[in-house]
Amino acid sequence: MDKLINAPLRTTQDYIAIEDAFGASNYKPLDVVLARGEGVYVWDVEGRRYLDCLSSYSAVNQGHCHPKILAALTEQAQRLTITSRAFRNDQLGLFYQELCALTHSHEMLPMNSGAEAVETALKVARKWGYEVKGVAEDRAEIIVAAENFHGRTLAIVGFSTDPVSRHGFGPFAPGFRIVPYGDAARLEAAITENTVAVLLEPIQGEAGVIIPPPGYLQRARDLCTQHRVILILDEIQTGLGRTGKLLAEEHDGIEADLSLVGKALSGGFYPVSAVLSNREVMDVLKPGEHGSTFGGNPLACAVARAALRVLIEEDMIGNAARQGDYLLAALKDIRTDRIKEVRGRGLMIAVELQPDAGGARRAAEALMRRGILCKETHGNILRIMPPLVITQDQIDEALPHFRAVLMGGD
Ligand SMILES: *Cc1c(COP(=O)(O)O)cnc(C)c1O
Repeated sequence: MDKLINAPLRTTQDYIAIEDAFGASNYKPLDVVLARGEGVYVWDVEGRRYLDCLSSYSAVNQGHCHPKILAALTEQAQRLTITSRAFRNDQLGLFYQELCALTHSHEMLPMNSGAEAVETALKVARKWGYEVKGVAEDRAEIIVAAENFHGRTLAIVGFSTDPVSRHGFGPFAPGFRIVPYGDAARLEAAITENTVAVLLEPIQGEAGVIIPPPGYLQRARDLCTQHRVILILDEIQTGLGRTGKLLAEEHDGIEADLSLVGKALSGGFYPVSAVLSNREVMDVLKPGEHGSTFGGNPLACAVARAALRVLIEEDMIGNAARQGDYLLAALKDIRTDRIKEVRGRGLMIAVELQPDAGGARRAAEALMRRGILCKETHGNILRIMPPLVITQDQIDEALPHFRAVLMGGD
């Protein structure tokens, strides 16, 4: 122990050794230790440059250390960082106004992590169910999809279908029903008089960029309206430009009752999430019934306002659509029987390898050695999600490496 604490830190292996010695083992990261980021690039402690093709799961859509968000952060940090919600602050109202205007929402509720936004929506939906829909006490049901990912809190992992996320963490909260993703008939069959909400990802990210069949989300919207059920769309990964629209629901021409955003809401500087309410569902919450010490703090609000501003002003959403089309087409052009499918929307792209193609982890490690950072999911799926500021030249630089590795090279 003493030896480790006193060892001078220099190489990648040194940093990995102390992480392994003192950190919980709940992650299995690639063996790269990053020290700096700018735009689409990050650099490791030994000075090697990498193209970031994960964007921290969509938390840095705006690119690393965006100068305008950084300026907002440092300016606000010198003025006022937190007031708690016991008092008001001069950033919160502006954040509300700007995000509601941008997303055509009536009201919003700020939290910090994505999981907290999900938990907030579940609580609001249940309360709405009891107070407005008239569901009998403690009978509310919320329908979720198989293979979902909504975060890591107890309520959320309780309705996960991933054994690794669930095993050993029970008992779990009741009141959730799981239906297959993309199957509107099964969704309809699961709705009862006690159903208060349906919670879906517009595209399932962690499941491996699973895009539902055309018409599914519209059908889910119609069913919710017809049966007086709240549609909650978790846009924490798909939202804020990732799919080439501000919110992925726009691809389907629908509006959720509650939309959840997080991750890129702060451009990666700070945990900021929000529940956007498109009906007066949010009005069921009364003072004292829900909250968060850090939720809505002025530093978070100032950072989020800047993160939203650059997303729009610098046309990152349009760029995501254009570069996404380009990258998707180029990846689909790679002819090898090692690839099972290439799919995506905007810059949310996955390459699914055949089961005998050596695994996505091998591909991610080979790409890392070539200066590209990607992460595998579910063994055979490689997710490719660069920051939305990527240029065609930068994609062209990366493509030979994707080609070589996906064709089996090191
Ligand atoms: C990342 C993610 C979450 C959880 O966000 P945290 O900030 O990690 O709590 C929830 N839903 C989706 C779709 C996500 O991708």
